[in-house]
Amino acid sequence: MEIDNQLEDSFDPSVYPDLLPIYYKRLFPFSLYHKWLRYNDDKLLINREFSFTLKDDVYLRYQSFKDEEDMKKEVIQKCPHKIDIGAVYSCRPSDQRTASNFHPLEKELVFDIDMTDYDEVRTCCSGADICKKCWPFMTVALKILDRALREDFGFNHLLWVYSGRRGIHCWVCDKEARELSPAARSAIVEYLSVIKGGEYKAKKVHLPETLHPSLKQADKIISKYFEDLMLNKQDFLATQDNCEKIIAMCLDPNILYKKYLNYYLTCISFI
Ligand SMILES: [Zn+2]
Repeated sequence: MEIDNQLEDSFDPSVYPDLLPIYYKRLFPFSLYHKWLRYNDDKLLINREFSFTLKDDVYLRYQSFKDEEDMKKEVIQKCPHKIDIGAVYSCRPSDQRTASNFHPLEKELVFDIDMTDYDEVRTCCSGADICKKCWPFMTVALKILDRALREDFGFNHLLWVYSGRRGIHCWVCDKEARELSPAARSAIVEYLSVIKGGEYKAKKVHLPETLHPSLKQADKIISKYFEDLMLNKQDFLATQDNCEKIIAMCLDPNILYKKYLNYYLTCISFI
C-alpha cells in the first residue's frame, strides 16, 4: 500500500498533455503494434479501422495506415489521448465514403473483464477504484478464461492487456477467432457465462449436481485462491450483512458450504 501511495503522490495529472507527445515519440511500441496488426499480410493493416479520441473528447473514426511509418507519423501528429482498434474492412476505412459495399470482414474476439463486475463480492473498493486486495479477482478471472479459451476452444494466440483503468482485456488473435460470425461469438460468450439475474436478492447461479467439465476446471482454479482472497484479503465474512448475503445464496440456509462460495465466484461475468 505504501508503494501505491508513493506512486499516487508522485503522479501529477496536469503534466499529462506534456508527457503524451514524448510517450509517442520515444516509448510507444509502433514496431510491435504494426507487426501484430499486420498478421503477415499488409492488407490486414491497411484495411483496419483505428479511431482516435483527441483532446476535449474529439472523436475521429475511420483512420487507417499504409504502413508502420504512416501509422507513426499520424499518431505523433494527432497525439490521441486514446486509440481504439476496430475491424478489418473490405477496403481502406479512410475511403469508406466513396467505396461501394464497405463492410467489416474480421475482428479479434475480445473479452473485457471489469473490476466493477466484482463490486458485490469485494469489500475494499467499488466503482473505478482498484487496490492490491481486489486485483487478485482479475488473476482468478484471467486464469479461468485463459484455460477455457485454450483448452475448450483450442485458441493459442491470446493477448492479455491492462485496460488502462479498472480491468483487463483479452484479445484472441487466432485466424479462426478473427473470422468468427457474430452468432458464433455470442455462442462462445453463452458457453462461458453462468451468471443469470441482477442484484443480490436471489441466487444468481443454478448449477446442476454434475458440473460441466469446464466449470469443474474453473472450480479447481478458484479453490486455490478462494481462502486467501475472500477470507484474508477481503475479510468478506466480517460483517453480519455479508454473512446474510452468503447464506441467502445457499440452497440450504442452515449450512454455509464453502463450495457455494466457490460457485458464486465462478459466476462472475466475464463480459
Ligand atoms: Zn480494492
